[in-house]
Amino acid sequence: MGQTALKIKANTFQFFTRNPRGSQAKKLDLQDVQRLQQLLQEHHFAPVIAHAPYTLNPAAADAHIRTFARQTMADDLARLEHLPGNLYNFHPGSHVGQGTSAGIRLIIQTLNEILTPTQQTTVLLETMAGKGSEIGRSFDELKQILDGVKCSDKVGICLDTCHVHDAGYSLAVLDGTLQELDKQVGLNKLKAVHLNDSLYPRGSHKDRHAPIGQGFIGTETISRLINHPALQGLPFCLETPQDLAGYAQEIALLRRLYQR
Ligand code: FE
Ligand code: FE
Ligand code: ZN
Repeated sequence: MGQTALKIKANTFQFFTRNPRGSQAKKLDLQDVQRLQQLLQEHHFAPVIAHAPYTLNPAAADAHIRTFARQTMADDLARLEHLPGNLYNFHPGSHVGQGTSAGIRLIIQTLNEILTPTQQTTVLLETMAGKGSEIGRSFDELKQILDGVKCSDKVGICLDTCHVHDAGYSLAVLDGTLQELDKQVGLNKLKAVHLNDSLYPRGSHKDRHAPIGQGFIGTETISRLINHPALQGLPFCLETPQDLAGYAQEIALLRRLYQR
């Protein structure tokens, strides 16, 4: 993963901890992990992001589904201790008809069962597009979850630009949206960005990512975003529909747009 990132001139990346649809993780190869850690240090990478399988639902009504989510996340976090100082991003979950506040309570419960004061990974709630009964479609919902977590220094949020746009926030009026985020969650809690354009207009709740500059967010807004003073130093990961060559091109474009 590290070598591939270097090849396309990236200085961070995101990876799935296991098959994105859930299931077993590969056996840990500790030598491989150590080689990666060395590479990340040598090339001054920003923190990397491990993404939980997106099928997990810690807010499910079915206790078995919640248990599976909790155990999988706990296992991921235990494995990530071998690559300390990085980020673990997950989708907060869907309340599947139980209502937002019931879902939020279940997510808090899960986090309080798996987070430990000594862990070296920061766990990130991803801002969601609000498809179906997805929780995390507003900064307020994320704030409510963060407020309930006991190990509060172990949690933060990851801003997905396609998702917040689809949730209804304006990235064109970037200062306003970031002020809102600051008011609700605190900009100090923002630890990473998923940089995507969106195939659909603002507020559509669709969650369909587009290549940079080929969606409703657009190159100009994305350029202002990556150059915004409040977002400097954060790891930005592309989740655009691209192959490796496409990612290399987008990274080159973003490096040209970056003025700092
Ligand atoms: Fe995600
Ligand atoms: Fe994302
Ligand atoms: Zn998405």
